[in-house]
Amino acid sequence: MDDTLRARWERLRERVDDACRAAGRDPGEVTVLPVSKTFGPDLIREAVGLGLHRFGENKVQEIRDKSEALAECAIDWVMIGHLQTNKAGVVARLATELQSLDRPKLAAALDRHLRTENRVLDVLVQVKTSHEPSKYGLDPAQLLRFLDELAGYPTLRVRGLMTLAINTSDPDTVRGCFRRLRQLRDDAAARGHDLPRLSMGMSGDFPLAIAEGATEVRIGTAIFGARPYPDSHYWP
Ligand SMILES: *Cc1c(COP(=O)(O)O)cnc(C)c1O
Repeated sequence: MDDTLRARWERLRERVDDACRAAGRDPGEVTVLPVSKTFGPDLIREAVGLGLHRFGENKVQEIRDKSEALAECAIDWVMIGHLQTNKAGVVARLATELQSLDRPKLAAALDRHLRTENRVLDVLVQVKTSHEPSKYGLDPAQLLRFLDELAGYPTLRVRGLMTLAINTSDPDTVRGCFRRLRQLRDDAAARGHDLPRLSMGMSGDFPLAIAEGATEVRIGTAIFGARPYPDSHYWP
């Protein structure tokens, strides 16, 4: 099998399109966010050559380093990992989007920095849809109140919700997490919160997420190959 980046990317996009059709959805409804964490500027530059210009990163330091190394590429950096409040300024300055907004203190810090930078940021609220103790994300019971609070920050454009499914090989349990996120979105919509985007699904589980309504899947391994570190390095 052809193992170039181009071939992996094209195969992945075909699998996403197939999953859409299997779910009775239009492939045009589902975006792929390539997740470039741990991979260096050379590989990302190669991906830019394939027409990709938006990349997900899990750590502030990598966004800082790569946006400098790839300044000429006009990349949109999307922060998808846990963000410490004291690093909100870097995201406010260098990222176009944050998918892991999960608490009021972080929203306040981002707003403060964004005002200074005279910028706005697209955000997704990360919701915890599993009961694993180690995972970040907002408690679903707090979602409506948090959305009301976010409406008071004009610097934060709330576009939707994001989740990580439970880490298990049982597809029904994984799918239940994705269904939960969609239901939370529908409940919020009924209360007047317009949340068009659902970011859910990764290399190992994206067809289930697409079947449950994902508008965006975050894909690392299936595009860029295996990472040098285990995921526990990123999800403390
Ligand atoms: C690494 C990561 C992904 C991509 O994971 P793969 O299994 O490599 O596709 C998606 N979302 C988040 C939050 C990640 O940290």
